[in-house]
Amino acid sequence: MWRATVLTIFPDMFPGPLGASLAGKASAKGLWSLAAVDIRDFATDRHRMVDDTPAGGGPGMVMKPDVLGRAIDAVAADDRPRLLMSPRGEPLTQARVRDLAGGHGIVAVCGRFEGVDERVIAGRGLAEVSIGDYVLSGGEIAAMVLIDACVRLIPGVMGKEASGADESFAANLIEYPQFTRPQLWEGRAIPEVLMSGDHGKVDAWRRAEAERMTRERRPDLWAAYRARKDRAKKPPPKR
Ligand code: SAH
Repeated sequence: MWRATVLTIFPDMFPGPLGASLAGKASAKGLWSLAAVDIRDFATDRHRMVDDTPAGGGPGMVMKPDVLGRAIDAVAADDRPRLLMSPRGEPLTQARVRDLAGGHGIVAVCGRFEGVDERVIAGRGLAEVSIGDYVLSGGEIAAMVLIDACVRLIPGVMGKEASGADESFAANLIEYPQFTRPQLWEGRAIPEVLMSGDHGKVDAWRRAEAERMTRERRPDLWAAYRARKDRAKKPPPKR
C-alpha cells in the first residue's frame, strides 16, 4: 500500500480534500493511506513550542530543528523519500509525480512561519519540493497537491485511464480540447471529426490540437517536445 505521512502543526487540516472523490474512495479501498502527525507532540517544554526567533534577527519565526528532528525520527524509519514542502525546492513536475507514485509513498514535512531551521534539512536529508513560484502560508496545501497528484496514478485508483499516458505533460504536450453532449450548445458545435467515428482521424486531430495549444501557450514545453522528436528521428550513430 502507498503510504503518505504528513508532519504538520495543523493535523486537523487532513485528510481535507484528500478524503473526497477519487482519493477518498481509493483510501477507503485500501489503495493508499494517510497519517497526519502533529509536530507539536514532539515538543518537550510546557508551552509545546515548535518555533523560535530567527538567529541574526529579522521578522517572523523559524521551526526548531530539535522538535522537527524528533518528529521525523519517529515516523520515517523506512525507505520512503523525505520531502520538505518549500518555495525554494525543485519545482514539482508530472515526471516527479510519476516517480513518487511508483514508490512506497512519501513523508512530507509542512513548513510554517518563515520556514524551518536549515540544519534539520541537511541532518535528515529532506528533499525540498515546490509546487510553484509563489508563496503559501504553509506547506499543508502544497502537500495535499503533491499527494493528490500521486494518488491518482496509483494502479487501480483511476478507472480506464489508468496509465494517464494520454494526459497533459505525459509527452511534453498539454491536452487537446474535450467536448461532450449536447452536440450544439449556444450556437457552438462539437468539431465534426469527433462525431465521425473514425478513430484514426480523431487521434490525428487530437494530436494536432495538442501540438497547436502547446505551441501557443507553453513555449517551454514546446521546445522540449520538439527536441525529443528530433532525437527520436535521428538515425543511430554509425560505428
Ligand atoms: N520565508 C519563506 C517562505 C515561508 S512560507 C521564503 O521566503 O522562502 C511557509 C511555508 O509554506 C514554507 O516553509 C513551506 O513549507 C510552505 N510553502 C510556501 N510556499 C510554498 C510553495 N510554493 N511550495 C511548497 N511549499 C510552500
